[in-house]
Amino acid sequence: LVQLSMPLNFMGMIYREIKQALIDIDDMFRILHRNPEIADRPDAAPLAVGTAAVRFEDVHFAYNLDRPILRGVSFAVPSGKTVAIVGPSGAGKSTLSRLLFRFYEPQSGRITIDGQDIAAVRQDSLRAAIGMVPQDTVLFNDTIGYNIRYGRWEASDAEVREAARLAQIDRFIEALPEGYDTPVGERGLKLSGGEKQRVAIARTILKGPPILVLDEATSALDSFTEREIQHALDRVAQGRTTLVIAHRLSTVVNADEILVLDRGAIVERGTHGALLARGGTYAALWNRQREADAAREALKRAEDRE
Ligand code: ATP
Repeated sequence: LVQLSMPLNFMGMIYREIKQALIDIDDMFRILHRNPEIADRPDAAPLAVGTAAVRFEDVHFAYNLDRPILRGVSFAVPSGKTVAIVGPSGAGKSTLSRLLFRFYEPQSGRITIDGQDIAAVRQDSLRAAIGMVPQDTVLFNDTIGYNIRYGRWEASDAEVREAARLAQIDRFIEALPEGYDTPVGERGLKLSGGEKQRVAIARTILKGPPILVLDEATSALDSFTEREIQHALDRVAQGRTTLVIAHRLSTVVNADEILVLDRGAIVERGTHGALLARGGTYAALWNRQREADAAREALKRAEDRE
């Protein structure tokens, strides 16, 4: 029996470790972008969150030193405001969110939250202050209720339901035969991209972080789902310091400031109206996306008619 229990104990330990690892990460983001070189400094203090104002100050960054990705990026996300980053694929948009989470560190320049350099604070306190709605949410092989409660384990059932309502996924869940107890993930019900994203939004609403990073899905959602998700995102961003990594431009119209990133540098900044009037890179991106969206909708209508 002793011989048998040893490997079983060992397996149990591995299982617990893996499970813990899954709980410790924010939506697999950390596993996907894991960088073991980033460690807390011995004197690291917890982040003291005040009004949750975020600043990037002359940030230079490269994953490999021979290929600069960010070349002197400076901007501020004032407390409670929304700043959207747009720009061509590969410009470095998602890299900004990885640096804010400190999965990587800038080679020069710094990122602060309420004046504290994030390189000098404890990573657990940093990540506790930031909520992330990632591009692709990975669901745990557990119930849909568990997947929402993951945002805050102590939340009551009523709070879980309220978060689902705000994320506009409540009716979908209530129509399932087992409701919140329905198994999802690889071994359960498969959710669509839009449904998964709404689960991530509900989870983030429950977590209630002062700072939010919304990394929009690159995949095309139909315009109804996109509007639903947009409403949910607007709600969760209300009153929080929000950085939107926008792959689709429809999200950014109401942002307090839009930054256009091109090859690692901010080439334009302003509100939607001001940038359209300027007729530069943003206006060109906007027009191109409008045309692509119109073509997509026309194609869909044609398919529906067939
Ligand atoms: P998209 O809109 O296509 O998502 P993006 O603007 O978000 O693009 P990033 O994901 O920030 O772009 O990537 C910027 C550049 O950095 C890309 O050229 C990419 O290939 C490169 N890159 C991203 N992650 C890594 C990595 N872990 N190691 C090396 N290079 C990377």
